[in-house]
Amino acid sequence: MHFHTSQNSQSCLLASSVAVLQAEKRGSSTGVGVGELIWPSPSDGTPFWKKDFPSSGVSPEVFADVKDSDPKHIIHVTAEMAPIAKVGGLGDVVTGLARACLSRGHTVDIMLPFYECIQKQHIKDLTVITKYNSYHDGNWVPTTAYRGVVSGIPVIFIEPSNLFFKGQYVYGGSYNELEAYLFFSRACLEWMQVTSTQPDIIHVHEWQTGALPLLYWDIYHHLSLKPRIVLTIHNMEHYGECSKEQLSKSGLEGSVYASIDKAVDDRTIGHNPERLSLLKGGIVYSNAVVYFGILNGIDITMWNPATDIFLPVKFNDQKPEGKKFCKYYVQRGLGLASEGTQDGNHVPDITYKAPLVVCITRLVPQKGLHLISHAIKHIEELGGQMVILGKASDVRVQTEFEGLAKLHNQGPCIRILLMFSDELSHMLYAAADMVLVPSIYEPCGLTQMIGMRYGAVPVVRKTGGLADTVFDMDDQSNHNKANGFVFEGIDEGSLNCALDRAFTYFREKPDEWNGIIKKVMEVDNSWNNTAGKYVELYHSI
Ligand code: ADP
Repeated sequence: MHFHTSQNSQSCLLASSVAVLQAEKRGSSTGVGVGELIWPSPSDGTPFWKKDFPSSGVSPEVFADVKDSDPKHIIHVTAEMAPIAKVGGLGDVVTGLARACLSRGHTVDIMLPFYECIQKQHIKDLTVITKYNSYHDGNWVPTTAYRGVVSGIPVIFIEPSNLFFKGQYVYGGSYNELEAYLFFSRACLEWMQVTSTQPDIIHVHEWQTGALPLLYWDIYHHLSLKPRIVLTIHNMEHYGECSKEQLSKSGLEGSVYASIDKAVDDRTIGHNPERLSLLKGGIVYSNAVVYFGILNGIDITMWNPATDIFLPVKFNDQKPEGKKFCKYYVQRGLGLASEGTQDGNHVPDITYKAPLVVCITRLVPQKGLHLISHAIKHIEELGGQMVILGKASDVRVQTEFEGLAKLHNQGPCIRILLMFSDELSHMLYAAADMVLVPSIYEPCGLTQMIGMRYGAVPVVRKTGGLADTVFDMDDQSNHNKANGFVFEGIDEGSLNCALDRAFTYFREKPDEWNGIIKKVMEVDNSWNNTAGKYVELYHSI
């Protein structure tokens, strides 16, 4: 991928150099140009993360331009895509992998339900391309396909004329989710059929599109479609539990799939009723299944502190000073720093002394809820600061964290923000000294990788993809890889120990700490490394 300095960004560069001069004239102690940055405050009418900031004088990286021979046409069929329909890592993975394959010369489309909650202003060149009917429960439902471009990636949106995908959020609308995704899976194939679209690969993700391989091999392959199917399982926690009757609504005869070699969930055998699992059906009927045999990457176009429009000041590993401004900006915005300073461009030293730990996560048991709530207490005891940005789907978890928020959010060091905000997540990664990921299990995990790219040192539990990407600073046997702090137990003492060590480095070994920051920012966790493995897989099937 190439980035060019456009005329526009050159003038930004100039403007920012002028700002540097002005800041220096006013005696800014840091000498970093931040222009006329207005520090936010918790009492601002518009939250501080809702603003866009201009691109500025930190040069974006230039990436190697790899082109694959024999390019393929790949269509991803997915329930999530970042940034327009993102709930967790699935959205990031689909966008990142699609962009990586596009840049390697493949043709890539993403097919996504046209959720009512998608903000249409983020879609470029949105146009209706096909009006057709797709089958559901004895009827042919009038359906519209749109084409548009999101973050440079072609997307086909499927919009049924019934209630499916209506509501405020990606998941949890007042329609039957399982039936909606059964409909969507079939509607994507039906669209390919009616438009004679013949990709090489259909790449499906998670249980939501697990029925597509069944529909493909038992209906559409006999009609005209010829692609091969890849299923990626990002998280096996959900598997699309399904009754025979529900599966029949897709037009497949549910009872035909109610056998152990097809779609019956083995764990329900002997129960009444036995249940099907869409994910199992997907596994049985796909040409290849990827279950974190391939490590994810991060989308380094979307996650780039040198160009990130959500950051008040940009930075990179060569020019890391902007990170301090981001930290102070977030601290001011959340009321974690005093407003005592008079000089607009001066970041008081005191803010550096309090390590800022962030935890950005879906609040579900997998993510180590008891460790997250314990971290609040321990970080407070250590004199640090912590910001949790989390969304709970379970009422009990929501209530528990609301209680914690009430207890802490007026105090001087902890903020618990119970919502989903992509913008704020960018700011928090940029502001953080450390990113905490205490998962009980974690197939891959993106937050530790994104944190690293933004110069936040990871403190993680040694499990799954976290163990593959973070190596402990105090592990003498692996010192050249060391890039964070790792603990093994699921008890509070293990977490304390990792946090204590991280805080000690931060406070007592500033040179080594700065060394870790530089190192984590230099780690290449991009799709440049891993997209090639998917391309090999596409070819192999
Ligand atoms: P999972 O897919 O299990 O949720 P990952 O670590 O693979 O976990 O991916 C999480 C992604 O979702 C990251 O991009 C993270 O920044 C984002 N994310 C999680 N919770 C929130 C939130 N409350 N607000 C904004 N982004 C979030």
